[in-house]
Amino acid sequence: MVRARDGGGERLRAEPGSARREPKGALAGRRGEGGGSRGNAGFPSALMILGIETSCDETAAAVVTDDGDVLSSVVSSQADLHARYGGVVPEIASRRHLELVAPVVREALAEAGVSIDGVRRVAVTRGPGLVGALLVGLSAAKALAWARRLPLVPVDHLEGHVASLYLEPDPLEPPFLCLLASGGHTLLLAIRERGSSERLGTTLDDAAGEAFDKGARLLGLGYPGGAEIDRLAREGDPGAFPFPVARVAGLDFSFSGLKTALLYSVRDLGEDEVERRKADLAASYQRAIVEALVGRAREAAERTGLERIAVVGGVAANSGLREALPEARFAPLALCTDNAAMIGSAARFTAALPYPSYLGLDAYASFA
Ligand code: ADP
Ligand code: MG
Repeated sequence: MVRARDGGGERLRAEPGSARREPKGALAGRRGEGGGSRGNAGFPSALMILGIETSCDETAAAVVTDDGDVLSSVVSSQADLHARYGGVVPEIASRRHLELVAPVVREALAEAGVSIDGVRRVAVTRGPGLVGALLVGLSAAKALAWARRLPLVPVDHLEGHVASLYLEPDPLEPPFLCLLASGGHTLLLAIRERGSSERLGTTLDDAAGEAFDKGARLLGLGYPGGAEIDRLAREGDPGAFPFPVARVAGLDFSFSGLKTALLYSVRDLGEDEVERRKADLAASYQRAIVEALVGRAREAAERTGLERIAVVGGVAANSGLREALPEARFAPLALCTDNAAMIGSAARFTAALPYPSYLGLDAYASFA
């Protein structure tokens, strides 16, 4: 479903494909009836988890079952709101979350065809992210859980990205090596069991998604720019510009040199030439990011003896990366960028806090 808001600037959308699954069993075909309190009538054995995610500029809510079925996943992106600033403005994000969190939760319940009575646990992102933004989701989750005397599950956003792999219809079983590449993080994680991870490497400066976004900005593309570079790169020559792939110690990453290399190329070429060779620039820039990610992921897999590689986070949507790592398992496209289905999924493997012990819970901005 798509709903235009504020004259069409923002939309609530239920993600297609694997993020949205049709209700099964008794509930199928009963949507739209009455709309009263149906609890989890259609899922007698399923425990419903309501997930809420507000760590950055997506207001998201989802209903997932304990078995990993996604009954709804609603994501309202604020990207349009922040585009004119070329990045997320924290204060604007918090205010928008405040306006959107209740309608998005309502929408997720309606899409799933369940009422709040059917929810057994409320899961929410506690960090890392923008603290003001996180606090909106956390407060909403506390209020909902407290009013219903439900347990609350505080979820780490990064564990959430990994848990996007554990959902039906094709859940992944550990052990595997996970590359988490998003707007805020670039991590290599050893996943030996669900719900825990060992950090093997991270970025020393920009995250991969951030590198995409900054590169897009230099090329005069919109924000967020990852998807734009991806699209443009398909028409360009990845070998046209020899952009560098940083070699740092261990299993870490560095993308700041690459960004500077693009900046110099853009300056040297001049406006007209940049315009003419934009696709080549995008393809070459993407190739360098992808090479760095693929190289380190394979190295980490080899060093740890973990045979399978999985990729999650917004950058996992990149078609160049998908092509360059054909042996890897990628999160479903609809679950790569921030969403609440992954938060609900992570809650299945995270300890719940009983009512009302969570009322004093705080958000955290960065991970230790
Ligand atoms: P975060 O959790 O850090 O907020 P997300 O997981 O939502 O980030 O991912 C957003 C990031 O993913 C942005 O930096 C965006 O540019 C990047 N991204 C989205 N789609 C693509 C794509 N097709 N190719 C490359 N990067 C992408
Ligand atoms: Mg994220």
